Amino acid sequence: MATTKVHDAAIIGAGFGGMGAAIQLGRLGFTDLVILEREDDLGGTWHVNRYPGLAVDIPSSTYSYSFEPNPNWSRMYAPGAELKAYASHVADTYDLRRHMRFNCVVEGAVWDADHQHWTVNVAGGERLHARYLLTATGFLSQPKMPDIPGIETFEGKVIHTTKWDDSYDLAGKKAAVIGTGATAVQLIPEIAPALAELTVYQRTAIWVTPKSDARIPPRIRSMYARVPFTQRVARALGSGVLEVLMVTAVLKYRRFKMFNKLAERVAKRHMKRQISDPVLRAKLTPDYDFGCKRPTFSNDYFTAFTRDNVHLETSPIERIDADGIVTTDGNKTEIDTLVLATGFNLWDVNFPAIEIIGREGRNLGKWWRDNRFQAYEGVAVPHFPNFLTLASPYSYSGLSYFTTIESQMKHMERLFGEVGRRKATTFEVTPEANADFLDRMTHNLEDSVFALGSCSTARSYYFNQHGEAAILRPTSTINAFREAGRFPLDAYTYA
Ligand code: NAP
Repeated sequence: MATTKVHDAAIIGAGFGGMGAAIQLGRLGFTDLVILEREDDLGGTWHVNRYPGLAVDIPSSTYSYSFEPNPNWSRMYAPGAELKAYASHVADTYDLRRHMRFNCVVEGAVWDADHQHWTVNVAGGERLHARYLLTATGFLSQPKMPDIPGIETFEGKVIHTTKWDDSYDLAGKKAAVIGTGATAVQLIPEIAPALAELTVYQRTAIWVTPKSDARIPPRIRSMYARVPFTQRVARALGSGVLEVLMVTAVLKYRRFKMFNKLAERVAKRHMKRQISDPVLRAKLTPDYDFGCKRPTFSNDYFTAFTRDNVHLETSPIERIDADGIVTTDGNKTEIDTLVLATGFNLWDVNFPAIEIIGREGRNLGKWWRDNRFQAYEGVAVPHFPNFLTLASPYSYSGLSYFTTIESQMKHMERLFGEVGRRKATTFEVTPEANADFLDRMTHNLEDSVFALGSCSTARSYYFNQHGEAAILRPTSTINAFREAGRFPLDAYTYA
């Protein structure tokens, strides 16, 4: 009888999270990895998103693996295409492509207790087996289509921002953008000039602070390449600013409310400098506290609304007809192009992105929904042996996602090191360690803007169906890194 091939590890997702996990597993000596990716290339969000204006919206100096700095960013906030190129560069440098399988849609994974491995079910019927399972499926990977009455009857062009149609010429079109999140903030200024008319449908206004963007001159880039320390300094500065925004203004709101209010003042002043019309300013001013929703950064979002061909519509949408959008005040705007900048569904379909069945048939998605969303140190869940969930509740630390990725890599180093030392076959986080971590995160959140601020009108995707803001890890990034390297080894059982 043929023996079952069991890979060392199966990683779901070939974005930066999955590649970071693969790099770490390689360093730990695992050579038989398989990285399964539903898209046709690597890069995750930076492969899928190609809408005009796409760029990193936090400083590029912080948005890379610290062990693989990129001295070639053209701007302080690099355009999306450079991120995609950087992802390819990382895959080549660390020889990751040989592990990757594209157009490979994973439907689910089941822990096989008899054989002590995971069975991964791929669409089409294929089954793979791996000793370890790591999901790196991202937070923002399941596009949200709005359930607006009549949307299916619209006869013009419909584009969700995650499925940008490069061949579609916007010149002279009468378009609508639904949504005013971070994506719309980047997209609207970019597409407005070409359009005949653009109507932006805003349900919830967004805080927008200035973006200190600039081209990085070649001499600075060559200095970063020749003296990497200089880029590390830029990274430290960028990370420091993000930490102040995130940790003090958002997570430590109780003590540092003044930073939060300062950020609001900066955003309001920014708007005032760019928009003279007080009525328009009032419409664009959020009625919830800074940080309830992910803040955005832009120098040209507000000015886009001062163009003659751009209109802000704040009346709720009643329905969509074949040729336009009707709002509840009875107004109809005729359009030929409908752009959906409506974001992503996180809590219904993305935690987890695939069905995961652990020990004794425990279904992770059901368990999270019936209990609470939780994961020890943002990576491990009781009843799920040999499994690390990298896009997890309480895992997102700092504003650069690379902070999260690298602290998770550090956690892996310590955990797999112990598994190796004990010559164990399996690891599993204990219910006690998990419960203590959840209690601590819950307690820490009591100091955050999510608990103490005014967030009820923000409609923020940070909040789940239980009313908990369970994405961000409510600690400093220093704490996240420290714990990743020092968590108690008896937080896990090894067998
Ligand atoms: P988002 O922040 O969730 O925004 C979606 C927008 O669509 C919101 O304004 C939402 O309004 C609106 N919307 C959704 N359904 C609607 C409906 N049925 N009717 C009317 N409006 C509706 O999504 P996003 O802008 O794509 O950004 C998601 C995240 O991606 C960001 O927070 C950020 O983390 C990340 N991002 C990063 C970058 C970058 O770094 N380059 C760029 C873009 C995005 P409500 O607020 O009222 O629900």
